[in-house]
Amino acid sequence: MRPLVAKINLSAIKDNFKIIRNLAPKSKIMAVLKANAYGHGLVQVAKILCDADGFAVITIDEALALRSEGIKAPIILLQGFFSPDEIPFILEHHLVPVVHCFEQIEMLTKCEVAGVMAVFVKINTGMNRLGFRPSQIAKTIHLLRGCKFIDQITLMTHFACADEADGISKQISNFKDCAELSSYSSSVANSAALFSSNETHLDWVRPGIALYGASPFEHKEPKALGLRPAMTLLSRVIAIQQIYAGESVGYGLSFTAENNMTIGIVACGYADGYPRSANSNTPVIVNGVRSKIVGRVSMDMLCVDLTYIPNPHTGIQVELWGENLGVDEVARSAGTIGYELLSSLTKRVPHAYDSR
Ligand SMILES: *Cc1c(COP(=O)(O)O)cnc(C)c1O
Repeated sequence: MRPLVAKINLSAIKDNFKIIRNLAPKSKIMAVLKANAYGHGLVQVAKILCDADGFAVITIDEALALRSEGIKAPIILLQGFFSPDEIPFILEHHLVPVVHCFEQIEMLTKCEVAGVMAVFVKINTGMNRLGFRPSQIAKTIHLLRGCKFIDQITLMTHFACADEADGISKQISNFKDCAELSSYSSSVANSAALFSSNETHLDWVRPGIALYGASPFEHKEPKALGLRPAMTLLSRVIAIQQIYAGESVGYGLSFTAENNMTIGIVACGYADGYPRSANSNTPVIVNGVRSKIVGRVSMDMLCVDLTYIPNPHTGIQVELWGENLGVDEVARSAGTIGYELLSSLTKRVPHAYDSR
């Protein structure tokens, strides 16, 4: 069997959940499970988070997969619905759409199906992505109240710069300026806001990345927040090349050895979700020892430096990221963030679940 595997430590996710519960004890927790639970497995993660007060996904299919596994908690659709034919499913399965534009309200108004629906109304407090402007909220709520099946409204917003104190305070003050706020429950905090400001906790917090033990902050390691990484991406060396000084490695021969080197070929490439943009020098852990990748990442393989690894041989274990090597550190070498690496893992990579 190809040796590449994503080991998922479900206890780490549970522990990270507890950290969040302790941090925001008065808030309900909406565990964000979009993108296959940031690559960790939608259903498996939902099932161990029995204490979550709700779950958030993007698509109806994700929500229905959770319902078919017997998940009863509220499921929020973070972008709501995209067309009227989705509304009957939302009613039937008691899903909670985010309503962010007047077109969606129009679809609701025209819907003939009976039922009751709770909604989250998204306010654009400065990110200018999804949501109604604060000045449109009175009208929005009035229109929603006119829809026969809307029975519960929660107001929400999302931060553009939740990792900066200024970013939070400006948007939260815009949010609180909505006069309607006092009559409804509210939700603003993603992971970064949750950890940086108690003021953001309100009725619902919406952690994603923190559950998986990666950092929402550029300059803070997850450990400093008490979080444990849940995914360890492991593979093995499948071939070894001894090369001489002056010889090069991989596509484009972009890396040239200054000295004689031992190169290990690892079963993991960009078609598995490892970033092709990772530069030579991106860290890896080989048999417990820190080393680096050399040359360009291929579709199904990458090369690592084994020169200083004691007794290098095929079959030796390589950690691409995880318990001993932060995904955020790897991401930085590839000019991206941990979120992208975790959620980009492809179907080809099997998951192995354990609890430690
Ligand atoms: C993805 C998402 C979250 C979770 O963000 P993290 O930074 O992963 O905690 C929260 N709210 C909304 C609206 C989201 O889209």
